[in-house]
Amino acid sequence: MTISDNLKMVRSRLPDHVELVAVSKTKSNQEIMQAYDAGQRVFGENKVQELVRKQEELPNDIEWHMIGHLQRNKVKYLAPFVTLIHGVDSLKLLREIDKQGKKYQRVIPCLLQMHIAMESSKFGLNREELDEILELDGLEHVKLVGLMGMATFTPDMEQVRKEFAFLSSLFEYCKTRRPGFSILSMGMSGDYEIAIEQGSNMVRIGSAIFGARNYP
Ligand SMILES: *Cc1c(COP(=O)(O)O)cnc(C)c1O
Repeated sequence: MTISDNLKMVRSRLPDHVELVAVSKTKSNQEIMQAYDAGQRVFGENKVQELVRKQEELPNDIEWHMIGHLQRNKVKYLAPFVTLIHGVDSLKLLREIDKQGKKYQRVIPCLLQMHIAMESSKFGLNREELDEILELDGLEHVKLVGLMGMATFTPDMEQVRKEFAFLSSLFEYCKTRRPGFSILSMGMSGDYEIAIEQGSNMVRIGSAIFGARNYP
């Protein structure tokens, strides 16, 4: 199966209202171009340096999403071009994105990452921190547009389903408080069908498109 075949297969399983973010971390420009030539324009990366390099080297009409953990001191490198930041997991980070957005005269779309997994290693906000951020006013250079979450890495699909259902209920709650909320980013190669069943409208898919990753 080529990247283009994989992409077609994945797309055929996504309802029209679900946006596909092709996760290209560790993949070469050449591999990304195969997906690009098959029509994909939205790509996700989880490392700032890699994201910036690929943005410089690849076509200008690609929309780049930052899907990984983002350190405050690196926001400045993404601020000029990033289309969506998925992993906002603190108020301090949100304030830094606002500051950098102002510098570049942009309003940067952001998702709040919620901690929904059993593993403590995964990043994300708890309910209290979410409420604190929802009450905020006056950040003019960030636009909160939704939530993101990662389920526990487990073969227990009932556990995964429960975690996605929980995130989905938080998303419904956020929509009652913030009219701008429209994106629920959940689901990866191994669990996107469950995520969609639970209300996801943006999936982040890497290995099902590009094949397994080889980490150095
Ligand atoms: C790597 C990654 C993905 C994609 O994972 P696959 O299992 O390869 O689809 C999705 N989301 C985040 C945050 C990731 O880091």
